[in-house]
Amino acid sequence: MSTVSLVTGANRGLGREVCRQLGELGHAVILTGRSLNAARSAAEEMASAGLDVEPLALDVADPDSVAEAARAVKERYGRLDVLINNAAITYDTWQRASSADLDVVMEAAQTNLYGPWRAVLAFLPLLRVSSHPRIVNVSSEAASLTNMGGGIPAYTASKAALNALTRMLAAELRCDRILVNAVCPGWVATDMGGPGGRPVAEGAESIVWAALLPDNGPTGGFFRDGRPLPW
Ligand code: NAP
Repeated sequence: MSTVSLVTGANRGLGREVCRQLGELGHAVILTGRSLNAARSAAEEMASAGLDVEPLALDVADPDSVAEAARAVKERYGRLDVLINNAAITYDTWQRASSADLDVVMEAAQTNLYGPWRAVLAFLPLLRVSSHPRIVNVSSEAASLTNMGGGIPAYTASKAALNALTRMLAAELRCDRILVNAVCPGWVATDMGGPGGRPVAEGAESIVWAALLPDNGPTGGFFRDGRPLPW
């Protein structure tokens, strides 16, 4: 059976392109979106090109939705090989940490930190059934403490915490042979990245790299384009 890969926030942007690239590689792809209709239309386009891509509703900020998605994947596939935590919100360039609206900060964390965490908890039993399980947390170099300055506080804090989660999960899941890594796609010309960034296909390749790691590949790392980034 093909490698079963699930991508969150995959109805547009990087997640969508990651699904397309994994589909081209022969994976059975579960293309998820918080709107089932949006996921359907993205998946249909890929399926009509001959790729094995199925849509599924999954809102990472909604515990019931995540639990229901995990139930559906268990019933349909019985396991999960690759979980890509891609969904994210609130690139809050308009805010400063020193004057931030904490409601905005907490809302961002619901999707960018607790969303991936919730997804890992829900899908872990299915990942443990896999022979080559991988978790990819889509992060950002903005979360690197080494080079961190001011600004973009909700996004930056949520992604820095996601990096911390990546380290903890990698350590705890090493005994289950689950490789867990954080990946930065670079500055990419999506709705979030805006014009001027690199092509979506290049950013997606940076994410797909971590999904395809061999069993003796790295875990608990932070990468862009397959090269380590400073934490
Ligand atoms: P994007 O174009 O804004 O797409 C974000 C995706 O996340 C959309 O599909 C959106 O769905 C989905 N989403 C938002 N909230 C969700 C939720 N609660 N549950 C499920 N899906 C949800 O962003 P992108 O540029 O592709 O970014 C993808 C990832 O790359 C993110 O983790 C981002 O932080 C990271 N990243 C991007 C850049 C860049 O330059 N673009 C740089 C560094 C890191 P809706 O259509 O329903 O809103």
